[in-house]
Amino acid sequence: MGTNQITPNDIKFDEKYGPLINGEIVEAAGGYIYAVNASTGEVLAQIGRGGEADVDKAVKAARAAYPDWANTLIEARSAMLNKVADVLEENAERLKMIESMDTGRAIHEFDLDYQLAIYQFRYFAGAVLTHYDGESRPVENGYLMTQKEPLGVCAQIIPWNVPMIMTAFKLAPALAAGNTVVLKPAEDACLSVMEFGKLLSEVLPKGVVNMVPGNGDEAGQALIDHPDIDKLAFTGSVGVGRLIGKTAGERILPVTLELGGKAPHIVFPDVDIDSAVENATLGYTFFNGESCILGTRLLVHDDIYDEFVEKLIERAKKVKIGPPTDRSTRLASIINKRQGERVLDYFDIARKEGAKILYGGNRVTVEGHEHGYFIEPTIIEAEANMRIAQEEIFGPAATVTRWSEVDEVVKMANDVEYGLAAGIMTDNLQNGLQVANRIEAGSVWINSYFNFQSGAPFGGYKNSGVGREYSKEALDAYSQSKTIVAAYNRPPLGTFE
Ligand code: NDP
Repeated sequence: MGTNQITPNDIKFDEKYGPLINGEIVEAAGGYIYAVNASTGEVLAQIGRGGEADVDKAVKAARAAYPDWANTLIEARSAMLNKVADVLEENAERLKMIESMDTGRAIHEFDLDYQLAIYQFRYFAGAVLTHYDGESRPVENGYLMTQKEPLGVCAQIIPWNVPMIMTAFKLAPALAAGNTVVLKPAEDACLSVMEFGKLLSEVLPKGVVNMVPGNGDEAGQALIDHPDIDKLAFTGSVGVGRLIGKTAGERILPVTLELGGKAPHIVFPDVDIDSAVENATLGYTFFNGESCILGTRLLVHDDIYDEFVEKLIERAKKVKIGPPTDRSTRLASIINKRQGERVLDYFDIARKEGAKILYGGNRVTVEGHEHGYFIEPTIIEAEANMRIAQEEIFGPAATVTRWSEVDEVVKMANDVEYGLAAGIMTDNLQNGLQVANRIEAGSVWINSYFNFQSGAPFGGYKNSGVGREYSKEALDAYSQSKTIVAAYNRPPLGTFE
């Protein structure tokens, strides 16, 4: 992968992407909204403005497809998921270009996104084959058996930052476990997902995956409110996550939530500073800074702080800002004006609370892409308890804060409402592992940020969410266990007297 010969001019969009129901794109009941190129503002296509009527059709299609899909042999489901991975791989270069245009993110980053997404389908194609090893044993006067069963129709809502990773994280375990799905992609980034949906229709039985594009408070709300769904899965902000958790609580539905993050990245004094700066820069700028896993709270040991920060600034100056679809670009356009303004507002908040912007902090213009919000890599010296070091910014910015004692840095690292990811850089693995053990986060990467390994559980502590994805644990989140106990005889007469 990564030899993208496709240019934006090669991409042909459909005029309209209504909901995908029963394997076909159909007319949207409530009309359409525009999908625009994040950096140029050009209208790329129209997407359905999903609402109750579309959601109802999609849920009905998923419900009708459910019994056959649930009863499909796991070997056959596994084979189909491998085929989904093949189809995604075959179409990856085109989909990456679509996603880059739609989200504004730099095209080269999508090599990682699509590698992770393809692995997801292959991983769950394999994992499901060993998931059904329920228990079976003789008990007094009979036999006991346990088995895993799917949940039914799953409602899945994903955000705009990494659309194909999110689609794969949600679909692969749900389908592997035998569920059918209604997926709502984010209104700002659904074109690659809808195109993928069309490809899925060539591989999966009709109705197994349905998609309803549209606004969160319309299509999303209608989906979580639909009376005939059996599971809620969401990735996005803590605010909407709470709403979905509340709905799940009221309706006694199982729920998986992957919410925000504000990851500490701890730098010990024993590191080679140049390589640590490189890893730190990757850790706060990748995904355009728009990700919940970024290492945006750099906690740097006092002994090397000045040199580290100086080199971090020099490195930031060299990060190439440019058009999203240019392969040499490393930082491109934020998804939309609202999010761009939100990031810039955070820099004002930082200034007001006494933090110091050491580098960056500005929007820059890229010729031909004046619509886009391109924001400089931004380094802010801050106290660990300031808002800028506590709240999710979702832009290419990191705070730097000094520490001198291990207990102090562990406290700083954990003193935040989130707990999704963390990084540690040290040449002393004993330090690294001992600190990793004390960090309240679902993933801790020592010396190499974003070190995703297939099958490793991914999810959050604290306000970063509930449940784990990317791993076998996700199959459990999309299954329920049944115990069957068979007695050889009924109790003898008189047992109840
Ligand atoms: P949201 O949480 O609003 O959006 C995530 C998804 O939920 C989207 O598909 C959205 O639809 C949908 N949604 C919104 N409201 C509802 C609702 N009432 N019922 C059901 N679904 C709903 O995130 P934002 O896009 O507003 O981003 C705001 C902030 O959230 C970011 O700055 C960032 O801090 C955080 N975030 C975290 C992410 C993560 O990966 N953990 C990902 C994205 C954002 P639609 O967008 O179509 O309106």
